[in-house]
Amino acid sequence: MHMGPPAPAKECCRFGGAALPPHQTDNTRIQAMQLHTHLWTSVLTGLVLYRRHPLKAALLVGAGVLIDLDHLVLYCLYTGDWSIVGALCYDRYRHYKPVPGDTRPRYRQLRSCLHQPLVLLPLLWWHGRQQRWLRPVAMGVTLHLALDTVDLARKIVTLLHSRY
Ligand SMILES: [Zn+2]
Repeated sequence: MHMGPPAPAKECCRFGGAALPPHQTDNTRIQAMQLHTHLWTSVLTGLVLYRRHPLKAALLVGAGVLIDLDHLVLYCLYTGDWSIVGALCYDRYRHYKPVPGDTRPRYRQLRSCLHQPLVLLPLLWWHGRQQRWLRPVAMGVTLHLALDTVDLARKIVTLLHSRY
């Protein structure tokens, strides 16, 4: 039986500290919308709407998933760290509430204007009236932002539940 001090938590990239704080379980984590959820919902919608138009289906899936690249770009700009591994490590702990002793940096929201539905969607759909190829892009982005909005509402409810 091991009687020494507890083994140090696995370091998370260049920031140090535990990748997953041992006192915080997945119950305390404010889960982010997962990329794979955007992927399968986009694929399913693309198959339903554009069954006979694979290029349009691909545009819908691409737009529905790749819009999240703005998070990666903003992470790189805020941190100066241009590694995907660093971004994934940050994404692993950024949803945990900081606790005393946790000095890992947290940055403001990693959302660009691409995640502003009231700005982006009218522009896309308006231009989609003239540019037909933009319609599946607009559909993919609309689906993505709708899922993000539902997810945001779920996070707010979770946060309120944890406070009261
Ligand atoms: Zn998103």
